[in-house]
This record gives sequence, C-alpha cells and structure tokens, in this order.
Amino acid sequence: RNVVIGGGTGFIGSALSTLLRREGYGVTVVSRVPGPQRISWADLGKNGLPPETTAVVNLAGQNVLDPTRRWTKGFKQNVWASRVNSTSSLAEAIIEAKAKPKVFITISGVGIYKPCASKEYTEDYEGKPFDFLSNLCHDWEAAGNLPIDVGVRRVILRSGVVLGRNGGMVKQLWLPFYFGMGGPVGDGNQFLPWIHIDDITRLILFAIENESVKGVLNGVSPEIITNKQFTKALARAMWRPASIPVPVFLLNLAFSEERAKMMTEGQKVIPKRTQAYGFKYCYPDVQTACQSLVRNAK
Ligand code: NDP
Repeated sequence: RNVVIGGGTGFIGSALSTLLRREGYGVTVVSRVPGPQRISWADLGKNGLPPETTAVVNLAGQNVLDPTRRWTKGFKQNVWASRVNSTSSLAEAIIEAKAKPKVFITISGVGIYKPCASKEYTEDYEGKPFDFLSNLCHDWEAAGNLPIDVGVRRVILRSGVVLGRNGGMVKQLWLPFYFGMGGPVGDGNQFLPWIHIDDITRLILFAIENESVKGVLNGVSPEIITNKQFTKALARAMWRPASIPVPVFLLNLAFSEERAKMMTEGQKVIPKRTQAYGFKYCYPDVQTACQSLVRNAK
C-alpha cells in the first residue's frame, strides 16, 4: 500500500503524509526539493511511478495568495503551470505504468463556482469558466482526466479554505488576530466555504479506501458560514476581539482584484456527493474547528 503525493511537502500534503503513515501506508512525495522518501518531477518523467503504487494524489501548487508575489503575468503562469503540469505529469505516469494504481485523486478549488449571494452549488453544477481562477480550476481538473480504458478510478476534490494551524489562511491571520487586529473582510457577508485540515486529509483517505467513490466531491464542511461568522469563531476561540474590518480596496490594491476575489467574494457550496457517500466530518461546525486550532497551537 503505497501512495505517491505530488506536493506532499506542503500544508495539506504533509498532514496527509502523517495520516497515511499512521494508517500503515508507504508514502513517496514528488517534490522540487530532494529529500528522503522523495522523488523529483524529472525522476517521475524518466522512471515513472515507484513500484507498487496503489494510489496517486496531487496537492502541488504555487501559493496563489503569497503576499510577497505581485500578480504579474509570469506569476499567474507559475500558479497555472504548477497545478496543471504537475497533474498531467502524474496522469502521464499512470497511463505509462504497467501495474496501475487503483485511484488518482486531485485537488481543485471552489473557485470553479461563480460567487453569488443566492445560488447553491453542488457537484452537479456545469457552468462555464468566467475568470482566471475558474479557468484554472477547469484546466486543472481536465489535466487529470484519464482515458476510460486505463481503468483507474478518478476523484476530484473541490476544496474550500482549509483551516489548519500550519498553513493556508489561518497561518496568515494568526498574528493579526493574536494582537486583536483581526476583522471581517469588507462587510463580511460573503460566503466562506471551509473545511478543517483533519477532514480534508480524512476525505482523501476515504476516497483512497472506498472503491465506490468517484467523480467530483465538494471538499467543504456542511455548515455554510459567512466571512463574518468565521471571523467571530476564530476570534472567540483565541479570546480576542476582531472588529477591525479589512477594507476591500486595500486587498484589491495589495493582491490585485483578480485574486483578492478569493477573500472578498464567496460561494455557497454544498457537499452533496461527499455526504451521500457517507463521509463523516470530525469538524462539521466552525466553532469547534477554530477551538481545535487554538488547542493545537499550545
Ligand atoms: P502549499 O503551498 O502548502 O504546498 C503546495 C506544494 O506545492 C508545496 O509544498 C510545493 O512542493 C509545491 N509547489 C509550490 N510551488 C510550486 C511550483 N511552482 N511548481 C511545482 N510545485 C510547487 O499548498 P497547500 O498544501 O495549502 O495546498 C495544496 C493544493 O491544494 C494547492 O494546489 C492549493 O491550490 C489547493 N487548495 C488549497 C486550499 C487551502 O486552503 N490550503 C484550498 C483549496 C485548494 P515542493 O516545494 O516540495 O516542490
């Protein structure tokens, strides 16, 4: 039982590696940086998948919200290529492999759904891309499609914001919130699709182990919340006030409007298929999710 994880050194990837090892799986990470139990993307292209690979997961991707990087054409190209090319390299390796893995799981984002105050999005949605990020999600998901005769189960997880202490949004918000400088983004009424780090990694394990799971699954919690409700939950868990709103124009200025949208707008996303498969969340509500982040920080 060996799992190959593209981007397995990252925030979600390292939490997934820990969970898989605890469950008795072997893990090989595909990374740009050499290290133990790692192979490079060039090795993957040259030698293919390691022997006895039973599942392949792709979690690679240049951090879109890196505040130190300007939203230039070149950076957007990095954001795109790091996801689409890594996914197609893994798909290629699966197609070439003599002994096939059972399943290929890739992550994608809820940015595929158009932000809207009234619409509810399930996995059945079939809308067209409407901006850079939705185009990216489409190309990213398509890059992992395998011909049917390859016979490998395919799963796509459209993840909401992953809440964990060691990465993603919470890591960036921790200091401002700690100093009581936190607050909602704009009026805070935009939806914030979210999932706890333990649940997204457990959902990946669930998809590896359940042979009936295939297709698109929304990787979001069943509790629909707004940015304001999240802000309140995190602040309460940290015993801090959080009443200083972050003006939208400031985020547009710092991040450029096209990517600031990830914070200033949101979608109402329902994990319909995820729940229909019987996945049970450890953190179905945001208050307990935030409390666990604070507990784990000590
Ligand atoms: P991280 O930024 O923590 O890690 C992703 C990994 O991708 C890195 O460890 C790195 O591995 C690899 N990587 C980074 N830049 C590049 C590049 N230019 N080319 C190739 N590989 C690169 O991301 P997360 O763990 O937070 O997220 C994993 C994936 O899930 C991403 O694609 C992200 O878009 C997606 N996602 C994340 C969400 C979140 O809230 N965190 C929400 C929805 C989707 P190495 O340095 O070893 O090569």
